[in-house]
Amino acid sequence: MSTGDATYIKALNKRILLENIIEHQSISRIELSRLTGLNRSTVSSQINHMMEEQLIIERPSEVSYGGRKPILLQMNEAAGYTIGIDFDMPQTQIQIANLLGKPLANYQVQTEDEDVCKNIEKVIENVHDVLKKHRVSESPKGLTGIGIGIHGIVNNDHNIVFTPKVQWNNINMKEAFEKHFDIPIHIDNNANLTVYAEQVYHYPMEDLFSITMYSGIGLGILEGNDIYKGSQGFAGEIGHMIVERNGLQCSCGNKGCWELYASEHALKRTLKAKGYIKHSTDDFDLASIKDESIIEEYLDYMAVGLNNIINIFNPEIVIINSEFMHQHRHLLISLKKRLNSRMNNYQEIVTSSLGKEACSLGGVAISLKEYYGINSLNLSHYPYFDKVDKASIS
Ligand SMILES: [Zn+2]
Repeated sequence: MSTGDATYIKALNKRILLENIIEHQSISRIELSRLTGLNRSTVSSQINHMMEEQLIIERPSEVSYGGRKPILLQMNEAAGYTIGIDFDMPQTQIQIANLLGKPLANYQVQTEDEDVCKNIEKVIENVHDVLKKHRVSESPKGLTGIGIGIHGIVNNDHNIVFTPKVQWNNINMKEAFEKHFDIPIHIDNNANLTVYAEQVYHYPMEDLFSITMYSGIGLGILEGNDIYKGSQGFAGEIGHMIVERNGLQCSCGNKGCWELYASEHALKRTLKAKGYIKHSTDDFDLASIKDESIIEEYLDYMAVGLNNIINIFNPEIVIINSEFMHQHRHLLISLKKRLNSRMNNYQEIVTSSLGKEACSLGGVAISLKEYYGINSLNLSHYPYFDKVDKASIS
């Protein structure tokens, strides 16, 4: 065996061991050997190495077998930190998590300057403050990565190509962050990070679809554990699927795009026009909406897009990330009634319980995955969130 092969196999074994330790939370060497098929001496030498690196730690099992408590291995979660950012206007989220993706705090930063570069500088300053507050530099590993979600199109070179809200064309946010932080910076579209968070924290499936419906609509696609981006990074711009010929004018240049009818923003626009939302606030009470046709029409439009997505992708689970739909999950029943094509094949439609934090959590998760060099990160057994309300309608 050449040295290159040996290095490759060592890295491969390390990856497999890390994936298993993370997934099982705590596990013995013998169990690791049994699950991975690696022999005990390989497991032992790899584990020793990872303990020297302070990646994993030992602890005695709470259960004893004949007086002897087996030693279990677990991740050294407090050894360092990751940051996930949902970069948006007028507000940006900065999420800090430990090395097991456990969310520690989520900070909001006002980013409403018309000059995007000023907003970027402001977020960078705030990240520095967060690092100080959590004494990140005192931990053995410090900050290990930053994952940033952008509400727009990010090409495969991490350049922002288009954002519907403001003209940020070809801004290299990655470079701006790299000037300040000597760690890997990952930039992606918010829908992509959102679906990744769903996989890591709730649904450990290889193929997953998540639709975010706030100001616009984006589709995040995971295919075989990878974010599906298309040839240039433009895949999943489902909000700009045309559902009305000669419909409303969209900022993308076309008319009648789906997000102008089925996003939360679209619903609120209608409710404002009909006087159900006072202009100073964005809140409304569903029970106060006497005109049922508003919600019926909204669900009709939502169903048009969902029908198309389901017919194209044949998904097992579709996750709808919408505050409105999550709060009013009974509407999923009406929505499902509209998906009555015999060609429609899916098993479940659920609403996201990660909600608006999904994107920044996805940033945390993608940074961790890259830091550990693993293929799949499964934190679904960790009790970080309230039990997922699946609200299945199938
Ligand atoms: Zn459009």
